[in-house]
Amino acid sequence: MYDESTPLTKVLDKREAKKFKDSRGIETVGDLLAYWPRRYQSPASNLAAARIGSYIVAVAEVKSATTRSMKNRRGRMLQAVITDGSKDLEITFFSSHGHEGKLVPGARALFAGKVSSFNNRLQLAHPGYSLLSDFDRGERRNLIPIYKAVGNLHTWTVTECVRMVLDLLDEMPEAIPEEVLDRRDLVDRMAALRGIHTPDSHAEVDAATKRMSYEEALILQVALAQRRARQAQESTLARVPRPGGLLDAFDQRLPFTLTAGQVDIGETLAAEMARDVPMHRLLQGEVGSGKTVIAVRAMLAAVDAGGQAALLAPTEVLASQHHRSITTMLGDLAEGGMLGGSDIGTRVTLLTGSMSTQSRRKAMLDIASGDAGIVIGTHALIQEHVSFQDLALVVVDEQHRFGVEQRDALRGKAAQPPHVLVMTATPIPRTVAMTVFGDMETSTLSELPAGRAPITTHVVPEAKPGWLQRTWVRIAEEVALGRQAYVVCPRIGDDDEPDEDTEIFAPDAAPDPDSDGDGDEEGTEGDAPPPRPLASVHRVHADLVANPALEGLRIEILHGRLPADEKDAIMRDFASGDIDVLVSTTVIEVGVDVPNASVMVVMDADRFGVSQLHQLRGRVGRGGLPGLCLLVHSGDADAPHERLDAVAGTTDGFELARIDLRQRREGDILGSSQHGKRTQLQFLHVLEDEDLIEAAREDAFAIVADHPDLVAHPRLAELVHARVDAEQAAYLERG
Ligand code: ADP
Ligand code: MG
Repeated sequence: MYDESTPLTKVLDKREAKKFKDSRGIETVGDLLAYWPRRYQSPASNLAAARIGSYIVAVAEVKSATTRSMKNRRGRMLQAVITDGSKDLEITFFSSHGHEGKLVPGARALFAGKVSSFNNRLQLAHPGYSLLSDFDRGERRNLIPIYKAVGNLHTWTVTECVRMVLDLLDEMPEAIPEEVLDRRDLVDRMAALRGIHTPDSHAEVDAATKRMSYEEALILQVALAQRRARQAQESTLARVPRPGGLLDAFDQRLPFTLTAGQVDIGETLAAEMARDVPMHRLLQGEVGSGKTVIAVRAMLAAVDAGGQAALLAPTEVLASQHHRSITTMLGDLAEGGMLGGSDIGTRVTLLTGSMSTQSRRKAMLDIASGDAGIVIGTHALIQEHVSFQDLALVVVDEQHRFGVEQRDALRGKAAQPPHVLVMTATPIPRTVAMTVFGDMETSTLSELPAGRAPITTHVVPEAKPGWLQRTWVRIAEEVALGRQAYVVCPRIGDDDEPDEDTEIFAPDAAPDPDSDGDGDEEGTEGDAPPPRPLASVHRVHADLVANPALEGLRIEILHGRLPADEKDAIMRDFASGDIDVLVSTTVIEVGVDVPNASVMVVMDADRFGVSQLHQLRGRVGRGGLPGLCLLVHSGDADAPHERLDAVAGTTDGFELARIDLRQRREGDILGSSQHGKRTQLQFLHVLEDEDLIEAAREDAFAIVADHPDLVAHPRLAELVHARVDAEQAAYLERG
């Protein structure tokens, strides 16, 4: 009996099995069946596409073949001409041994190799080939699957192995309930695997892909539906704020009027926290839409209800800023128990990893005793020895940096499950929200507070004479008007790797969604080296200080490697206007809020992701001053820069998020690990498969409503567990 867990060593030749394992980590029948072709080719494909350097795979017929001895070598060389009917191509083997009998006129074969040129004629030197009689075993296939090479096994060897394995299996456990297969018009699993590996038509491939995509979506959605079902079973304390408390006092002293969206969402949160089922809500809102004040009001409500609230921030810079700004916003309301503090006041405590042992200990005491009503921190808050007196509400800021597991870890610190609010400024396309945050309800803050000035964005090619200097002069002009500027660089020092928070893209080219960068059968074209080394904070700082146009300006640096108190001091000085220009890494990417800053310059902007640039740009244009964002790149001045042009072309974060998503491997967004095997989705395209994801979600919730433990669906249960386990493993791996 063979099934998907059967080791390949039991099915294939030992050496082949070893190659699959060593080269691609493929160890079982199931692994092999999940190794799907990267494309399909029709046997009628022609040789006309051959260009020097291109890798071609083509079915062709041997037209003529000759062998001759060579001057300087022993042995005989074989030269042949192959044709596909429309074009001829020469092939050459420097040793005819083993080929002579096979490559005879009239033989048809699948050839694969890199096109080179010899005596001004195109040729394939030492191509791989497989005679069609062997390859096809007599079948006439209309489509040939092309696999990425596995070690030195050619695509057709992979095909043969896959076919052998498929032939051994007669039935496959089905994960999708039969009724759903019928209703959604999906082929069964066996048919799908055949359709992927041995299709006769593109229609068959499409039907197979649709079914596999649906299966992935269903597994994901069942896992989420189960999470939801578990959450709905949980009970917690209803948190109803007492009137006349901190929240009322805070509202009275707010210096601005809340936007309609802020009021609405505030009411939703209050209503959900007043229930005895824990809240799980995602709040997404454009950069600058005013999420913090919503969070503060919810936290004050939690304190007014007798509990504590924690705000989890992704970076120390952001945690300190929140601590500072929330403390300021609260004024004497944050001086509970202190002389001159309000008698209804509470305390706002900061906890980060780099605090001194002494202040950490003090913070932890305040947290444990409940004296700190509001606790703000980084992932240090998740650490085991931090305990709360009564944690009522967890707010996670800028969620795209945190995983489900981190949310869970913090939730675990409460006696009863706390209410959870997750905030993100990275707009999330609907289907991604359904997949990544599918266990939460979503609120969207779509309007910006009144009086926001527009941000203008320009792309600045350094190659154009004078443009970069003009950029620095613009900064000087803004500073002369009393404003401030950020200059962001992708790395700290000249010898450093890019800053770890920077997602570095290859120059110009969008990553090829097909390539996984680990040796590609089709070969990769060598990337041109960047024209100059990546800009660093130290180098740019030195240049600016020496630049006469910026004489007299107070220019400082900020990056993650500075000691925490220094970072803090710099941010504080920048916030209070004592620094004019801050040269920094992306530590200021998320959440930093200095309304007086009006210019954002991003060096080597072509190396940043679209959403990241949008986030960076969101640091300016906050204080009613028109913002200016200059995206500097050192590439070809006249070539289009797709990502930069996109960012310059719109300030619509949703639009940019879609572009961003399209440019990377979508699987990565769904929390897969770099190292873990196959936690990512293979088939599902979260953007294109919107209808399918919605259908799967509907079915998943219905299935879980009927059988929360999936007793009626053993195979589905197995796959869901495997997926959840893989995610947890990936999380542990990330540490
Ligand atoms: P984000 O949603 O990006 O986290 P913030 O919460 O940092 O945005 O808010 C950006 C700025 O807008 C802050 O300076 C905040 O004080 C201000 N702000 C928030 N709500 C309003 C409002 N209703 N009217 C005017 N300014 C507001
Ligand atoms: Mg924010």
